[in-house]
Order: sequence, then C-alpha cells, then structure tokens
Amino acid sequence: MKTPSLNVQILLAAALGILIGMAFQVLGVLHPFVQGGLYVSSLVGTLFIDLLKMILIPLVFCSISVGISNLRQHQQMQRVWVTTLLFFISSMGIAILLGMAASWYFKPGAGLHLAMFEQAMQNYEAKQLPLSDFISQFLHGLFVNPFTALSQGNVIAVVVFALILGIALVKGGDRFQQLRTLMQQGLEITMLIVGWVMRLAPLGIMALLIKLVALQDVAMLSTLAKFVAVVLGTLLIHGLVVLPLILYLFTRHSPLWFWRGAREALITAFATSSSAATLPITLRNATQQLHVKPEIAGFVIPLGATINMDGTALYEAAAALFIANLVGVELSFVQQLVIFFTAMIAAMGAPGIPSAGMVTMVMVLQSVGLPAEAIAILLPIDRLLDTLRTAMNVQGDMVGSLVVQKLVKPDR
Ligand code: ASP
Repeated sequence: MKTPSLNVQILLAAALGILIGMAFQVLGVLHPFVQGGLYVSSLVGTLFIDLLKMILIPLVFCSISVGISNLRQHQQMQRVWVTTLLFFISSMGIAILLGMAASWYFKPGAGLHLAMFEQAMQNYEAKQLPLSDFISQFLHGLFVNPFTALSQGNVIAVVVFALILGIALVKGGDRFQQLRTLMQQGLEITMLIVGWVMRLAPLGIMALLIKLVALQDVAMLSTLAKFVAVVLGTLLIHGLVVLPLILYLFTRHSPLWFWRGAREALITAFATSSSAATLPITLRNATQQLHVKPEIAGFVIPLGATINMDGTALYEAAAALFIANLVGVELSFVQQLVIFFTAMIAAMGAPGIPSAGMVTMVMVLQSVGLPAEAIAILLPIDRLLDTLRTAMNVQGDMVGSLVVQKLVKPDR
C-alpha cells in the first residue's frame, strides 16, 4: 500500500491526537494508563519542539540576510519594507476591530460575577508593565551582540542583526560575493534539515494535541464559554473570511489553494502554540508550496513571526473588553481607542512563544486602569485559545508574503 502524503499524515495525526486526548480526559489524569500516556506524549511533543527550535536560529539568520541581500535594487528593498509593514499594521488593525466589535455586541463577561474568581486573582501577582517601560524594554532588546543573540536564541535580536547584515551585503556589492554564497548555502542546508524534521511532524503534532486536550480545565471552560466562543468565533472569521478575502483581492489566489499549501504550518502552529517554533515550516510552505520567492519569503515570514500577530492582537483587545465587562467598567470612546493601539503594540512586542500574549496583555489592561490580576481568570483557558490565535498569526504571515510579493513584483 502507498504511504499517504505528509500532508495527509499530519491531518490524520492531528485528528487522532484530539481523539486520544478526549479519551484521556474521560478516563481522568489519575488513571495510571493516562499518566503513562501523558508522560510519553509530553516527551515526544517537547522533543519535536526542541528540534524545530534547534534549526530556528540558523534559519532566521540565513533567510533574512539572504532575502535582503537578494533584493539588490535599493528601490525594491524600500518597497518591500514599506509594503510589509503597512500590511502587518492593517491586518492587525482589522483583527482588533473584529475582536472589539464582537465583544461589544455579545458582551461576554457581563453576566458573570467577579467574586467567582476572587481566589484565583488573589493567588496571582501581576507584574507591573507600564507602556513606557514596555516600549523602552522592547527597543533595548533590538540591538544585541549577535553572538549572544544567536547563542541565546533571541529571535528578535537575530532578526535585527540579519537585516543589517543583509543591507551591508547589498551595499558592499561584489566584494562580499563569497559571504553571500556561504549564507545562501547555509539557508539551503538548514531547509534540508527542516525537511527531515518535518517527517517527524505527524508524531510530534499528535503528541502535543493529546496533552493539550487531556489537560483542559473543562469546568473553567464552561464558566467562560461565552468569552471562549467570542474569541474562537472572531479568530475563525478572521482566518476563514477576512484573510482569504484580502488574499483574493490582491492576488486572485483561491482560499482552497492557499490552505492546501499552508496547512502543515497552520496545524503545527495550532499544536505548538508558537509561531517561532513553527517558522521553519512556515518558510518551507511559503517558498515550496505557495511559491513565494525566497527573497520575499525570507524577509516577510521571519519578520512576521516576530511582529505580525493578528490572532494575538485580536485576543488582547477582546480580553480587555471582557475584563471591563466583568468588573463592570463602562469604557469611554477614548479608552477603547487606547485599547486598540496598546493591543497592537502588545501583540507586536509579544515573542512567538506559547502564552506570550498573556504576559504583554498586562500592559493593555493597565493602559485603561483595569486590574491586571484579572489575567488569572484567563490563564486556565489560555492554552486552548493560544492554539487558534497562533495559527492565525502564522496565516497572517503567509498571506502577507503573498500580498507583498504581488505588490512589489520582484525581478524574475
Ligand atoms: N503563542 C503566540 C504565538 O506564538 C503568541 C501569543 O499570543 O501568546 O504566536
């Protein structure tokens, strides 16, 4: 019998992982068989993420500097920059508006009483994160000794250094041809290794989903069901309607064609809840399945994985309105505007790792005087919501690379 394609294997593994996770949930985590199963899935899932993270930094470093250095003409480079940033800001803006509109309409949190969550809030100590500190911390983290950044796996600092190196390679011209060739080969060899890691993806994804489903806090989920439904619903609208529409309007590509090419990355993002860990696969899907030119994908995708977060932005805004409802605060128009902007900054500043959005959300809450401790209420359900928001973050990056490619029309 023919072995099914990797794509099919991943889909089957994801479905199987969810089913086994549900069975574990029914049996209960104390069951000895479930304990053994959870130990193995935790081990396998973590190893899969470790492999992705292992290849991540060399890949980001090579792909950005090669991508930039291939955009030889100065003008083209500027066009790519500007179009990419405009795309990121607009798509995050639309996502935030969607989240805010749905929260305003459905008012999740309005019928709940804060007293129900008092215990959780007392046990949680929110770290102070004023906007000014956040911005200075973020800017301070951009320029780091590249060797430290590489060895510590500091993605954003590696992105920044690789950008500068790429520009220097362009400016330096033929003098640096050897270095350019070396980086190009570095990129090719890391992508080859990504291909090997991908063969383990079905197993890794299944393991991650078993653990995710088995450990869901079902009681908390049903208490916050309306909020969960609003967030998941708007994330789905963004992913199934808004982004495909943007894609179609700019590139005339059909959504089905897109999802067929992007599904490995989307499922991996869903299972790992990390756009950074998914990056090697996102880049592979963008260049190999969606046919984005390496010089565009090599720039847009890694940058997007660090700053373009549609799902996170939507979530941060929706969660702030949820907490306002919960504590009974009527937000003024100006306060809602503040939430719009801080949610965008908080999403851009959140690293592509699990639950990063929860940490930066403190800033959004504080910007309009909402209690940061209220985050304790959302923590138990965060792992679940992080799945879809990370998938939307990754989908935004891939749609972005296709739109940017279309708008700047790179040389053939
Ligand atoms: N987990 C998300 C990501 O990696 C970030 C977040 O919203 O927590 O893209």
